Amino acid sequence: MPDVKTAPFARRRTRKIRVGDLWVGGDAPISVQSMCTTKTTDIGATLQQIAELTAAGCDIVRVACPSADDAEALAPIARKSTIPVIADIHFQPRYVFKAIEAGCAAVRVNPGNIRKFDDQIADIVKAAKDHETSLRIGVNAGSLDPRLLKKYGKATPEALAESAVWEASLFEEHDFHDFKISVKHHDPVVMIRAYELLAERGDWPLHLGVTEAGPAFQGTIKSATAFGALLRQGIGDTIRVSLSADPVEEVKVGIAILQSLGLREKTLEIVSCPSCGRAQVDVYTLANSVTDALKDAITVPLRVAVMGCVVNGPGEAREADLGVASGNGKGQIFIKGKVIKTVPEDDIVPTLIEEAHALAERMGLE
Ligand code: SF4
Repeated sequence: MPDVKTAPFARRRTRKIRVGDLWVGGDAPISVQSMCTTKTTDIGATLQQIAELTAAGCDIVRVACPSADDAEALAPIARKSTIPVIADIHFQPRYVFKAIEAGCAAVRVNPGNIRKFDDQIADIVKAAKDHETSLRIGVNAGSLDPRLLKKYGKATPEALAESAVWEASLFEEHDFHDFKISVKHHDPVVMIRAYELLAERGDWPLHLGVTEAGPAFQGTIKSATAFGALLRQGIGDTIRVSLSADPVEEVKVGIAILQSLGLREKTLEIVSCPSCGRAQVDVYTLANSVTDALKDAITVPLRVAVMGCVVNGPGEAREADLGVASGNGKGQIFIKGKVIKTVPEDDIVPTLIEEAHALAERMGLE
């Protein structure tokens, strides 16, 4: 997990809430969430997917709860999962109680989708307090409170923020403060502004998400852009990248965003040049081969530079823990700034892999 003391940007001051055995908000590390795509009633498949997400580095997982049978499945899932499980509830307040009683770490409620929600708050608060369960108020552009939709005409940043502030006040009136908030929209520009407005209005921990972000490439770009803009301002305490793809990819992208911003410790980082007319080796193949061979094997921070020629190659390769600068059918291999050997082009990839493992082992032992 990242060390907030080394975070490069000042974090916005928020209250801190528990999500199972994790903290969210305050000085807690920014956590990465994802959501199962399995049927929650298929307990085995859901636990298997949670295990895969956990192995990928997921901190908190959400499961859908659209039916009574799903609600029944929550208890064994929450009990057996090694990371906190959040039940995602729309429409049916009675499943909120079920999820709380099932031992879920938290429950996501979408007040915009619950009729007469205001009448249920006191009971939800009592149950959540009794079980020490936190909540997420999840406002979505697609299910905005009809009153606000009428007032603003569409899901504007102001409408999303006002909806969230109103819904938060319903819980705060009952002296309940253990919740975080999200105000998701598919358009990063609207989403960024909505979170900025919300951040000005209270000290709630915020769950960042661009909803319906799209397939992997588009969703990654949208999420990285939006999260980067907000995290740079210190806004955001937990993140979920939404992709129309395997949720493990969401976790990888989420972690990579935090690592890119220096908000989570880096592991393997490949520094490779884009190649150009000066390249004397196939940089793409070289960089991809090294990445594929090392990406799941290296668990310590290791910077590997793969450079196509001698223009910037030696400089970058020297800056990295391990690097190659290629030229004339050969590769100069650098470790910590010093040339350790020169190898023929065909041996560059195996040499980098071997040296990376040896270096990682030494670094891991230090
Ligand atoms: Fe081109 Fe060399 Fe720079 Fe790579 S390192 S982009 S090959 S000049």
